[in-house]
Amino acid sequence: MTYEKEKQAFLNFLQEQNYYKQNLQLLQWDSHTQIPIQGYEQRAEVIGYFSEKLHQLQSSEQMKYYSDYFIDQSKDALLQNLAYECQNIYDSATKIPSSLAKAYAMQISKAEAAWEVARNESNYAQFKPALQKMIQLTQAKADCLGDGKNRYDALLQQWEPGMTTQTLDQLFPKLRSALIDLLAKVNHSQIIVDEQLITQHFPSAQQKAICLQLLTNIGFDHTAGRLDTSEHPFTFGLHARDVRITTRYDETDFRQSIFGVLHEGGHALYEQSFGKDIQNTPLAEASSMGLHESQALLWENWIGRSEEFWSANEALFKKHAPASFQTITANELYTALHRVQPSLIRVDADEITYSLHIMLRYEIEKLLLNDELSVDDLPAVWNEKTQAYLGITPPNDRDGVLQDIHWASGYFGYFPTYTLGFMYAAQIFQTLEREIDIRSLIANNQLTTIHDWLTPRLYQSGKSKLPLQLLEELTNETLRPEYLINYLTEKYQTIYQFK
Ligand code: ZN
Repeated sequence: MTYEKEKQAFLNFLQEQNYYKQNLQLLQWDSHTQIPIQGYEQRAEVIGYFSEKLHQLQSSEQMKYYSDYFIDQSKDALLQNLAYECQNIYDSATKIPSSLAKAYAMQISKAEAAWEVARNESNYAQFKPALQKMIQLTQAKADCLGDGKNRYDALLQQWEPGMTTQTLDQLFPKLRSALIDLLAKVNHSQIIVDEQLITQHFPSAQQKAICLQLLTNIGFDHTAGRLDTSEHPFTFGLHARDVRITTRYDETDFRQSIFGVLHEGGHALYEQSFGKDIQNTPLAEASSMGLHESQALLWENWIGRSEEFWSANEALFKKHAPASFQTITANELYTALHRVQPSLIRVDADEITYSLHIMLRYEIEKLLLNDELSVDDLPAVWNEKTQAYLGITPPNDRDGVLQDIHWASGYFGYFPTYTLGFMYAAQIFQTLEREIDIRSLIANNQLTTIHDWLTPRLYQSGKSKLPLQLLEELTNETLRPEYLINYLTEKYQTIYQFK
């Protein structure tokens, strides 16, 4: 076959896989937003069926043939990138024996069910046997993926290509001690940030009006995406022209929806901005989970929780807010949004304490995978670390070791991507300050300029580049925790008035 014909056949083959993926995403989106309760059982089977079909293509001889063929052809950089990505996909699809893959998938269902019961009853013992089995299977999986080398690194690659435990072990301790210092200063401050101002009744429909306008303002294309409601907010990018996000509404806490929408909106901007050349290919994905998260955090926290943002959006907010909010000034709102309070629950944590929750999980995961901690001792170690980092001890397992579904779902090695997201966002924001004076853009509600600047430099290349490579090209520096430390210190020393 001629090169041109091979190329067309390769792209068609990738398109076929992509159609399975889009189909799976749509089925999953529907399962989270629309499906009637009796539809679940059949849906799980259909999802299983199409997942297997996709897996067959990913692990096929054809996949191997095309990746080998186009890795050797250096005349087209895009095809070569595609070929390397196909090699990664093929390797992860074939390194794990199908018996192990099946046992793993089945154990996830069992572990998730056990976790749910254990969590509702706040009884770790109910979850322990399923967790133990999950850890054993994850170890076996990591040994296949990493050819017997560092287990944690092998798992980390699935979410954060190129990142290593060696790098994390250099970055995290520095960040951890800075965060613990900052938290101590906030705790000693005489300033009390009162959240009562903002937790008054606020009807959902009016919150939604604000959310939709904010999405427009940040550059979300409503003709290529939609906003729905679900219990746990998420983003599903079927295609750059079809990106589904959700949020939830709490009528006594508008922050859930507004910041939720800015967060998922940030994820959505990334998904809507993949280049035309990579669409319908496996490169039409974020470079990594950490970079994906960095964009959600950039829009939610760095932009959405800035003083400039609240002055610029005071009128929009008050147009839809009930009477009780009308006398609150933009500055009072801004301050009320920044209460720092160590809490037991990761998803409720503020900007300072969030990464402390992550680091304790990261340390524990490494111990579990390396057989340096047994599941029997897990709750005690969890509680000790929570006390050491956050100054509080969980009174029960529900608010401690049972709070996250991640380990039951097989998401070992995923937690660090949240804190990497914070570090990436801080470093990127600093570049945005230097290059395009982002603070005046926020103050003047010219938010699409930020989106336009990020698209060619970060979003459009999708998975063609590794996260650290993209970050270095964008910021001219390697990843450094100082940007996050400085951002938090400057912000909170003004609010809490410490030196
Ligand atoms: Zn996110």
